[in-house]
Amino acid sequence: MTRKILHIDMDAFFTSVEQRDNPSLKGRPIVVGGSPEGRGVVAAASYEARKFGVKSAMPCGEAKRRCPHLIFVKSNFQKYVEASKVIRAIFKEYSDIVEPLSIDEAFIDVTTNKIGEPLASVVAKKIRAQIFEQTKLTASAGVAPCKMIAKIASDMNKPNGITVISPEKVFDFLTNLPCKKLWGVGPVTAKKLADMGIKKIGDVRNFSKVELRHILGKWGPTLHDLSFGIDPREVSSSRNLKSRGAERTFSEDLVDEEKILEKLEDLTKEISGSLKKKNYCGKTVTLKVRYEDFDTITRSKTLGSYTDEGEKIFEVAKFLMEGQTDVGLRPVRLIGVSLSNLIGENDPFQVEMDFLN
Ligand SMILES: [Mg+2]
Repeated sequence: MTRKILHIDMDAFFTSVEQRDNPSLKGRPIVVGGSPEGRGVVAAASYEARKFGVKSAMPCGEAKRRCPHLIFVKSNFQKYVEASKVIRAIFKEYSDIVEPLSIDEAFIDVTTNKIGEPLASVVAKKIRAQIFEQTKLTASAGVAPCKMIAKIASDMNKPNGITVISPEKVFDFLTNLPCKKLWGVGPVTAKKLADMGIKKIGDVRNFSKVELRHILGKWGPTLHDLSFGIDPREVSSSRNLKSRGAERTFSEDLVDEEKILEKLEDLTKEISGSLKKKNYCGKTVTLKVRYEDFDTITRSKTLGSYTDEGEKIFEVAKFLMEGQTDVGLRPVRLIGVSLSNLIGENDPFQVEMDFLN
């Protein structure tokens, strides 16, 4: 079945929030982040500022040179987070398959959706209208049979626009776009391709998968598929882990505290290993104890900072066990430990929050 994927992207999100809340900023070139003395970098620029060539990540001094009457607004990230939560809740009214890419954009799979609407473009229209109704902010949408094209499309009629690429239009839509629009093509790959005369996506199709593999390595064949609009990546709502835990039921109930601690240490090493593999850190340690009579308790402690270190997790679990349980007094049937309140190194939402902080 052909999939129906939306990419919804808020228009100049941070600056739009500021202009919404302070009418004197409406229609004027503003940036969020940095300072007018030229320190720091621009976190976001309004459309009026972009006309002067001001963009995000640009040093503030440079931004001010390009646009002397630029207005610097202090970031209010709490407000952005609030708006982001409203938007995400709206997405969930239409589909549970939502994959946030950052604080202000997400993929939504609406192939089957909660309002039973067969036309993805209608779903997109309703979502955009509802976002505006509830936040007074505008969003742009791309509607396509795969993620890559939905994302390209959402950018084509910005701001406050929608672009629908139906399956039969995919091939022609891609043909004349520059290669850098393809998923995974950064400046380095783009240069490699350009050196071979591959400038447009349609040019990629003149090379076989074998040739592209030779030039680009493993990525080559995928790029070939992408140039035809073949992008099987699913919208993944489970990208962000909620918690990581492990537990053991003993073959016979244990009273010996030393033995239980030994097990606990094994469990924390296990958790630490799996967190490190996925590049996640966590903040809240939860200890679970089940006594011989099946009476089960949990005790938690939240740390001051994120960790993925087994030793640290063990230390906290041990502290909880010694101070807040009857381990050593009552026989224990099961012991478990988990780490929650996780953030991933690759979680763009978190990265942006850290940036604004
Ligand atoms: Mg945006």
